[in-house]
Amino acid sequence: MSPRPLFFDLDHTLWDFETNSRLALREGHAAVGLVNLGVANVDAWIEAYEKANDWCWAQFRKGLMDKNTLRAGRFKLAFERLGLEPDEHVSRALGEHYIETSPFQTALLPGSIEVLEELKERGHRMLLLTNGFEEVQHIKVKNSGLEPFFTDVFTSDALGVKKPDPTAFELAASRSGLAMDAGIVMIGDSMESDVDGAQNVGWDAVHFNPHGEVEIRAWRTVRTLHELLDLPLDL
Ligand SMILES: [Mg+2]
Repeated sequence: MSPRPLFFDLDHTLWDFETNSRLALREGHAAVGLVNLGVANVDAWIEAYEKANDWCWAQFRKGLMDKNTLRAGRFKLAFERLGLEPDEHVSRALGEHYIETSPFQTALLPGSIEVLEELKERGHRMLLLTNGFEEVQHIKVKNSGLEPFFTDVFTSDALGVKKPDPTAFELAASRSGLAMDAGIVMIGDSMESDVDGAQNVGWDAVHFNPHGEVEIRAWRTVRTLHELLDLPLDL
């Protein structure tokens, strides 16, 4: 029995993006002194930001907003949602604070470390393949204690191509010295980027899907990371 090589996605699969984002927002709320600007309730502030952020990303995807505008714009909109006058300068400061502090947050999805320890123990080679900026993703991996488990960390930034583009998977395999038919398994939360992307190049893919409907076309679905330990991950 030979343990199959495992490629993991990072955000929303191991690194708890939602929790870490909220931690950064809480820090920003204190650092910028939002209480003095009429934002007394930090939970209401986070909720307003998350709604504003979703709206801004929808605009971004439609090509109606650029990334620079989005960074401060979602904070401006959060003020408006709370019935407050948005301040350009404060919104910019919040945008910068968020970008600078969120990658340093260290919350992981439940079970991450125990499951990675067990998989490593079983002899799996593990690698990360993540869409994101090289510097930012490496900060996350280092600070959250994930680094020792992975032989390689591939970001779309460094590869020059994003999942689900087949080239992202092919480059990651070739740069790590793995043949495309080495029985590689990809594990990730995004049906499109991780599961479809990997299965389109002939890998098996595990959909990490804690809450949604089970997608029939994924090779396997897990609701928790611990369930990975029950899958047939040997050749
Ligand atoms: Mg993800």
